[in-house]
Amino acid sequence: MTKRDYYEILGIDRNADEATIKRAYRSLAMKYHPDRNPEDKHAIERMKEINEAYAVLTDREKRRLYDAYGHAGLEGYTTADIYRGVDFGSLFREFGLRDFGFSFGDSILDSIFGTRKPGWDRSKGADLRYDLEVSLEDIAFGANKQIEIQRTRTCNLCLGSGASPRGLIVCDRCKGTGQIVFERRSGYSIFRQINMCSKCHGTGNIVTENCSVCQGKGIIHENKEIQIRIPRGVDNNYVIKISGEGEPGRNGAAPGDLYVVLKLKEHPNFERIGDDIYTTVEISFAQAALGDRIDVPGLYGPVSVDIPEGVQTDTVLQIPGQGLPRFNKEGKGDLYIRVKVVTPQDLSQREKELLREFDKLQKEKQTKRVKTSPFNDATSRATRT
Ligand SMILES: [Zn+2]
Ligand SMILES: [Zn+2]
Repeated sequence: MTKRDYYEILGIDRNADEATIKRAYRSLAMKYHPDRNPEDKHAIERMKEINEAYAVLTDREKRRLYDAYGHAGLEGYTTADIYRGVDFGSLFREFGLRDFGFSFGDSILDSIFGTRKPGWDRSKGADLRYDLEVSLEDIAFGANKQIEIQRTRTCNLCLGSGASPRGLIVCDRCKGTGQIVFERRSGYSIFRQINMCSKCHGTGNIVTENCSVCQGKGIIHENKEIQIRIPRGVDNNYVIKISGEGEPGRNGAAPGDLYVVLKLKEHPNFERIGDDIYTTVEISFAQAALGDRIDVPGLYGPVSVDIPEGVQTDTVLQIPGQGLPRFNKEGKGDLYIRVKVVTPQDLSQREKELLREFDKLQKEKQTKRVKTSPFNDATSRATRT
């Protein structure tokens, strides 16, 4: 489903100021509030869309990113990040509407924030992917590789809070719990609603001075070298997972993982099919006719191969056990050698003489064969010309 433009959702100009945005939001909330549309199953979805547009366009940084890059500019934000900083509960009360939490219980809060624990957004860090080119030899023998990845990591000085050592104080609004609890009595029931504290964004702390190392971002960019062990016999596109080497998690959550995808480089001599490898060897016309024993370059060094007498071009010879090691198994695949017979060129006079003599003998032999064949005379005459 394509996401609608936030300005279009709220029905406002791209240069609308905050007061205009709030007015537009108010009239839409009055119109589309699920309480006012009890028959409409899509009312909650529509209200969430309106809320999201409002949350983004009333936040200076998020609006700047959205204006510059559209929805893609906010891809790094979780749902909780998007809604952070807006207290919909108090907005709704201000509009005289029942607020969402009361109307729909905790499920709507869960669906908006994903979690209701203090520290709200504790999502695992993003996974990283790295494509690594490997050679056929790397796969045949196994190999150790060093790669360098670019990633962010939690700032060492502020440990991700973004605050200077004396620039972090406990939030006075939520007393450091990160959440605000509302209670309301309705008949015999007491409804309890837990909202993320909008002042500290659920962290329980307020930053009064930015960390000088990360400029308040809580993360710094770094290049990191990582050792990769290539196992013997792995397939193309094999994925090696390196736990914990992805992007750091938020608010102390676990980091993501690094996935290294192995990409087999093309080899000048060999083609890989499963555990088997294929190569082509050129032999002379004489070798093809007489047979020979030759050395063929293999993955593990020269392989001695018997060329059978009278071999034809494109004949494939199988050499067992000279292919790739089987992944996680005993044994190896096979080496297949495609024979290519090369017609001789740049012949000397003597070589030509010998070949003409050879040709004469071949033709005589053929004539003799035809004469003794059970076919009629016409056939033999035709062959002789
Ligand atoms: Zn707070
Ligand atoms: Zn820092």
